[in-house]
Amino acid sequence: MTIILFGPPGCGKGTQSELIAEKYKLKHISTGDILRAEMEMGTELGLSAKKYVNEGKLVPDDVIIGMLMKAIKSIDANLNGVLLDGFPRTTAQAEALEEKLTSSNKQTNVLIDLRVNDKELISRMILRGKATGRVDDNPETIKKRLQVYAEQTYPVKSFYQKLNKYVSIDGLGKIDDIFGKICIEIEKAI
Ligand code: AMP
Repeated sequence: MTIILFGPPGCGKGTQSELIAEKYKLKHISTGDILRAEMEMGTELGLSAKKYVNEGKLVPDDVIIGMLMKAIKSIDANLNGVLLDGFPRTTAQAEALEEKLTSSNKQTNVLIDLRVNDKELISRMILRGKATGRVDDNPETIKKRLQVYAEQTYPVKSFYQKLNKYVSIDGLGKIDDIFGKICIEIEKAI
């Protein structure tokens, strides 16, 4: 099973991903979390990613695709597949993922887009920045990340629409209600 949770920064992908991964026994792969861990450990990958992440830009596709391929290689036998959170973020990443899945006779089951308006996204990320100290959750970088999303990530939507794998859900409301709607879509797709 391959499920993609999609949507702009601050839409609730991380929170919902935890719930989905637990319920459907999936490996939760967050490229943002992997990058932050690498940055924290000061690895070569972390050091090369740092300037992009801190400026709200996308880390180059070749770096991210290599990192993702490594992460999807090792899945525990008791799990049913992967839940991708924050990947793909460009059409090139989507193409690389689907090519890889096709080579093992698989395909993404569904991409679920969590829709949240910019005003709400900005206030959620400002709050998260204050609570966690996440360096890219500051007004200037948030603005950049939303711009990058609109220009580079939004086109991923039409890529999955063409594959008939795209659904969108209103990301405003109670966490449990949104999770319920996500589960309905996952069950239709598996
Ligand atoms: P996130 O935690 O998903 O909001 O990601 C935080 C930052 O990590 C992003 O603003 C990017 O700089 C970088 N990043 C995460 N995932 C990707 C990706 N799939 N492609 C490129 N950059 C990424």
